[in-house]
Amino acid sequence: MLSRGFCHCRDAADRRVLRYHAGCLMLTKDATMTRLLILYTGGTIGMDHTPEGLAPVPGLLPRLLERFRTPALDFDVVEYPQLIDSSAIVPAQWQQLIDDLATRYAAYDGFVVIHGTDTMAYTASVLAFALQGLAKPVIVTGAQLPLVHPRSDGWSNLADALEAASQPDLHEVCIAFNRLLLRGCRARKLDAASFAGFDSPNAPALARFGIQAHWQRQHWLRASQPFQPVALDVSLKLASFFLTPGYASTLAGQAMQEGGLDAAVLMSYGNGNTPADPVLLDGVAALTARGGAVLNISQVVHGAVEVGAYAASQPLARAGAIAGADLTPEAATAKLLVLLSQGLRGDALRQQLSTVLVSESS
Ligand code: ASP
Repeated sequence: MLSRGFCHCRDAADRRVLRYHAGCLMLTKDATMTRLLILYTGGTIGMDHTPEGLAPVPGLLPRLLERFRTPALDFDVVEYPQLIDSSAIVPAQWQQLIDDLATRYAAYDGFVVIHGTDTMAYTASVLAFALQGLAKPVIVTGAQLPLVHPRSDGWSNLADALEAASQPDLHEVCIAFNRLLLRGCRARKLDAASFAGFDSPNAPALARFGIQAHWQRQHWLRASQPFQPVALDVSLKLASFFLTPGYASTLAGQAMQEGGLDAAVLMSYGNGNTPADPVLLDGVAALTARGGAVLNISQVVHGAVEVGAYAASQPLARAGAIAGADLTPEAATAKLLVLLSQGLRGDALRQQLSTVLVSESS
């Protein structure tokens, strides 16, 4: 049968893979069905025009997804009762996703999480650290324009996400967006005005989707431990501080000293430099002494914190801040959340923060 849709084919290495073809011989007789679970949280992709403006419309996206069902691809869709604009996401919703992925892990070949773009990189990062021992694909996607818009990017993002979620040797959390497959804990939303919403500035793409899907398997992770998701401690108090010249370093130091924080991300200048503000340095030392941590990452999109590259990076390191290399702000937050949720404090926390866990930094 000549048709348009997903079908099972052999790749160059003679592996059986699921591909989307514009027109090819679909295997309808003995094709192995790929079964995916799609978790729909909200976001622009499933919105429609309402009297109040664009808003998620329950039932709309699951209906539109039906066009992707083929003899080779079956899926179930979970639409959450409260579809959100992702700017409203809180850790309890990440825990819900972790629970749903964990309880249905064995029943599906792969997973797609449909999500708003604003906090997509946070969710992908949290899942990357929390789904320890993941040996199946978890692909997060969304869109800049709703599916009901004639120029929506959602259709291609969904097609790419479903195809990536059908790769049995992809054992990590990724973002599929604008014809790229990106490592979830390396991706950032870098553009709110074009379809090129996401990139991973310090890491290569894991696939590029064109007429062919160009899988960059040499960059894919391999699961090395049994699947054991981490339960998040949703009561943790984490904060990020973006330094600006002037009062910001003092404010950050005060919050670290007195703000009841469990840990903090400090977004410093360049290669990890800060002013030697005694209030900031005392705050870092105090939070560290309480068993928490201050993770020092750069405000700059490309490049990394390198203690010692400049003398101005030393006081913060001496006060106890951990150098976060080229961690994204999203991954830094997620790494702290997951490690603290595992109960790590003090030296054990510092040691794990300095260890590359899921290829989140160079
Ligand atoms: N504000 C929306 C959200 O993050 C933006 C989007 O989905 O593109 O839910």
